Amino acid sequence: MGLDAATARELLSALPDPLFVITESGRYGLAVGGNDDGHYHDGSHLAGCYLHDVLPRTKADWFMDQVRGTLDSGRMRTVEYALAGDDVAGLDKDRGPAGDIWFEGRIQPMSTLFEGERAVVWVARNITARSELEAELRRMSETDALTGVFNRRKLMEALRHRIAEFRRYGQPTTLILFDVDHFKRVNDTFGHGIGDRVLCDIAAICSRQLRDSDVLARIGGEEFAVLLSNTDLATGEKVAERLRTSIAEEVQYKLEQRVDVTISAGVAALCEGEESVDSVLKRGDNALYAAKHGGRNRVIVAAAA
Ligand code: GH3
Ligand code: MG
Ligand code: MG
Repeated sequence: MGLDAATARELLSALPDPLFVITESGRYGLAVGGNDDGHYHDGSHLAGCYLHDVLPRTKADWFMDQVRGTLDSGRMRTVEYALAGDDVAGLDKDRGPAGDIWFEGRIQPMSTLFEGERAVVWVARNITARSELEAELRRMSETDALTGVFNRRKLMEALRHRIAEFRRYGQPTTLILFDVDHFKRVNDTFGHGIGDRVLCDIAAICSRQLRDSDVLARIGGEEFAVLLSNTDLATGEKVAERLRTSIAEEVQYKLEQRVDVTISAGVAALCEGEESVDSVLKRGDNALYAAKHGGRNRVIVAAAA
């Protein structure tokens, strides 16, 4: 079947996703397709422009790395990247999506020279909806649905990461485990709904006191953990004390009838020769157990391993 030039042009411009030919010297040889302004900006003016003349320096550098890498390997490569209408000089920003767009780029080396240069065909597909869904799924998989703080899975992952960092760089890291005292009484007195609210209040009080780099997680029914980066045992104990007193002072004001809501906490720091998450969790748990048996509403520090 023959393909006349007019039909070929029509085919290219009707491609649902934008297609670019980009040469080894960083020039757009061709910019066609992607005419739906719900998904794309009109980039047809790019043909003949150099990447470095229309994109911010770091983005243009990254595009060039991909072009050269694809040409050198001789194989198709798939990349993901964000690019906003504002990033590209000369676009009509009133048409096309606002803000960052996530793209999947499929980059194919051309088997013949394009206007005397090696070149790639770069097809860019808008995958923003999928990326946002993935980010939301990731967030959900590490979040406790009731309180909005991290969950046990995330705590374990963060702890494994911290142990690896500790072994490599010796950065002090401290773990606080705490459990609400006599929480059954809260449920029994006020009902499960208020019990849930108390758990949310506790999470909020802790969040306010902690740094962004700390990991606060609800790891069981009324059991929480805090992973404090760059924190030694003595400082970790102070943090645990502060959480304990804040919770004891703040939570009960919200309840109509007086029921003390306190916590017991165990504090353990990563030690020389820390093998796995199990050893530090065990020390923290033993300290928490000692706090319960010592009368509750207190913080106990675990001895080093
Ligand atoms: P202590 O820890 O001081 O020994 O006493 P406790 O009463 O807190 O001990 P226990 O661990 O036996 O009871 C925990 C209670 O927490 C029992 C359970 O019904 C309640 N609980 C667990 N998860 C939730 C939850 O998501 N919401 C509410 N409202 N209650 C919960
Ligand atoms: Mg309890
Ligand atoms: Mg418990």
